[in-house]
Amino acid sequence: MSDIVPPPSNLFYQSRNRRPRLDRAEGVYMWDETGKRYLDGSSGAMVSNIGHSNPRVLAAMRAQMDRSTFGYRLHFENEPAEELARLVASLMPAGLDRVFFVSGGSEAVESAVKLARQWAVATGQASRWKVIARYPSYHGSTFGALALTGMALMTAPFSPMLREMPRIPAPTCYLDRDSLSMEERGLRYAGMLREEILRQGPETVLGFIMEPVGGASTGALVAPDSYYARIREICDEFGVLLIYDEVMSGAGRTGTFLAAEHWGIRPDIVALSKGFGAGYMPLGAMVADRRLVEPVLDAGGFVHGFTYAGNPLACAAGLAVIREVLDNDLMGNAARIGALLKSELTGLMARYPFIGDVRGKGLLLAFELVADRETMTPLPKAHDAYVRLVEHAYERGLIIYSRRTRGGREGDHFLVCPPMIATQAHVGEIMEKLVASLDALAAELDL
Ligand code: PLP
Repeated sequence: MSDIVPPPSNLFYQSRNRRPRLDRAEGVYMWDETGKRYLDGSSGAMVSNIGHSNPRVLAAMRAQMDRSTFGYRLHFENEPAEELARLVASLMPAGLDRVFFVSGGSEAVESAVKLARQWAVATGQASRWKVIARYPSYHGSTFGALALTGMALMTAPFSPMLREMPRIPAPTCYLDRDSLSMEERGLRYAGMLREEILRQGPETVLGFIMEPVGGASTGALVAPDSYYARIREICDEFGVLLIYDEVMSGAGRTGTFLAAEHWGIRPDIVALSKGFGAGYMPLGAMVADRRLVEPVLDAGGFVHGFTYAGNPLACAAGLAVIREVLDNDLMGNAARIGALLKSELTGLMARYPFIGDVRGKGLLLAFELVADRETMTPLPKAHDAYVRLVEHAYERGLIIYSRRTRGGREGDHFLVCPPMIATQAHVGEIMEKLVASLDALAAELDL
């Protein structure tokens, strides 16, 4: 029987190989039981923003554990949650200051959609319930978040059980072969939202959800600047709420607390998680415009909540994480080291013709492999490049994250997203191991 027992769920999703057991982790490094060291070049799943075993966070958690680890939210307020909510609100655009804690990204996305819906009902707009999303996209694994997710790989097995939401293409402008400039392409993709709202009937559309810098679905996709402002205008034109899923891009990873800041966009609701708890505790937040929250509270309150939400231990960890980010200018470091890493990755294009694109912001970076850079034709699926390169890197003690996105377009992309504490020396080590891994892949696949 034992050989058909599926591997434990915490293994790398791409691999059937068993992974070694984790022994310990510190800073950007992790060690397995045999003593082998790995550079965490993807911060896990873009989570460990401040690195592993940060002494300040561990001390804050220990101190909180000695006081209380849990107080149910209907029975007690708690100081770490209050302080964290104040700190988060101070880092948001003005007015976007109502913070609702959760324990992960899917919960944050679901909370955003449920708040939006209750706002619509409370303000006499009960006909609005559709949330338009993009494909490819990833918004989480629970049914509500999955209904928005544009990745057939994730949704197909559950399709009879899902109420799938309308979707428009993500702005993969780098793949288009037309005579338009990038900015014009950005406007063209944004225009697809307007067309979709009209097709659905504006009175039925509640919101539009997007990752401002894409995560694992698109591989750090950044749209041309024109896209962001136009999307905001279109949402305003039809009274559609703009929801930014910053589960991966938020909490400083792109060099600003929200990726939205790069374009001066004020979303109506933001979902945060991953780097917000930074791997110390399960933590996320839905942050909403007070103008949405007030009518919901006036109508009797937000009919929603999770048992572990806002627990003092998770909030104490999150508070120490964000203070660590602010006090050590880790967002500035993410911008500087991210620029260096991006230019090093871009430099690889001269050496490897099968690297088709390098993209991203701050330390949310990715590169994509192709069979032909001119046409951006993907490598054959049978090559399994997205698995093979990760394996070569893993053997050499470098962890990177990959996907061959299905739903929309296919392509092998690799996220290189070390913790925001990474130094120039770490970039050197990542590049050395990555070059050796790419050489091994090129030899293996005859690229
Ligand atoms: N949204 C985005 C953009 C994500 O990248 C993820 C996770 O990868 C989620 C939502 C879901 O987060 P979680 O796995 O914490 O539920």
